[in-house]
Parts: sequence; C-alpha cells; structure tokens
Amino acid sequence: MSDARGRLIIISAPSGAGKGTVIRELRRLRPELRYSVSATTRAPRPGEEHGVDYIFVTPEEFEAMEARGEFLESETYVGRRYGTPRSPIERNIGDGADTILEIEVKGARKVRAKKPDALSIFLAPPSEQELRRRLRDRGTTPGEEFERRLDTAKKEMEAIGEYEYAVINDDPERAAQEIISIIDRS
Ligand code: 5GP
Repeated sequence: MSDARGRLIIISAPSGAGKGTVIRELRRLRPELRYSVSATTRAPRPGEEHGVDYIFVTPEEFEAMEARGEFLESETYVGRRYGTPRSPIERNIGDGADTILEIEVKGARKVRAKKPDALSIFLAPPSEQELRRRLRDRGTTPGEEFERRLDTAKKEMEAIGEYEYAVINDDPERAAQEIISIIDRS
C-alpha cells in the first residue's frame, strides 16, 4: 500500500460461486484489506452479525438512507434492497487502504461508471452443476428463492466479460491467492 490513496476493488460473484469462503481466505491472507459493509433489507442468515456482515435495516430505513444520498450505489436483488454506504469508502480510500466491495453486477456497473479507476474482478463457479450444488447445499435458502437465485446467477454469468479479471473458484485458497496476485500487480 504505497499509494497515497487506496483503491476500490469490486468483486462480483453469482450466488453459489462460493464467494463467502474465498473472502474468508482473502481476509486471512491479507488482513490489511478493508471491506465495505453494505446495508440490506434482507433478513440476517444464521451467524451473520449486524454491522459486520451487513447493516440490516427495514425498507423504511433503507429508503431514508437512500434519500439522504448515503449510498455510492444501491440495487434490488431477488426482491431485497442492497446499498454501498459512501462515507466509509471515502474514508478508507483517503487513508490509503485498498477497499473491497462485494456487490452484484448491476451495482458494479454503476460503481465503474462513477469510479473508472476501480479494479473489477468476477469470481465464477467452475460449472453450472457446481453452482446448483452449492446453492442447494446452502440449507438456509427456501425452495422458491433457490430457483430465483439460480436464474439470477445464470444471468449474472453473462456479465463476466465486463470485468477486468475473471477468477474461477475451483478451490477457495487458490482463488484467493489469484485475487491477491491481481491486486498486487494492478
Ligand atoms: P446475499 O443476500 O447473498 O448476501 O447477497 C446477494 C447479492 O447482493 C450478492 O451478489 C452480493 O454481492 C450483492 N450485494 C451485497 N451488498 C451489495 C450492495 O451494497 N450493492 C449491490 N449492488 N449488491 C450487493
């Protein structure tokens, strides 16, 4: 981190690409990287913590944050709202810290338009079969939502070419290492 300002690093991955495990590896291998904590109207999953994994808010609270211009971008994903708070990012970047944004493809487009210097990485599952398996094994996703997430994930795969880099998650540690080498050489 020799630059005066940190960089924005967008990571998008279709639901079921195994992003959570890769990010855990990334945190372990590079503890100095910072992560943007998004606001969302979806319910917490078991083990998720308010303020750590997401800022969990009601739809009314989300709208109020949006109206105050607090988001760098916001999107609807599978019927829920998600937004990237602007001020922590500006602070991190100003401190010279590289900051990861884990956001879906429509939000990523908006961030790239506003911040053309942002580095963008697409994390993909090794196959559609593996994507289905991972989505199904996440026992916390109800049946109808599984179908919607699978549909969305397949559409999201089409956006892979919009990203500067694509990383295949065949193994989480290897994928995390590859992301680190991309960050280091960019
Ligand atoms: P999940 O509900 O599985 O945690 O996240 C669903 C999708 O929303 C994922 O693709 C995740 O990367 C994306 N997401 C999380 N936070 C944000 C955000 O602030 N903005 C946008 N556009 N997408 C987000």
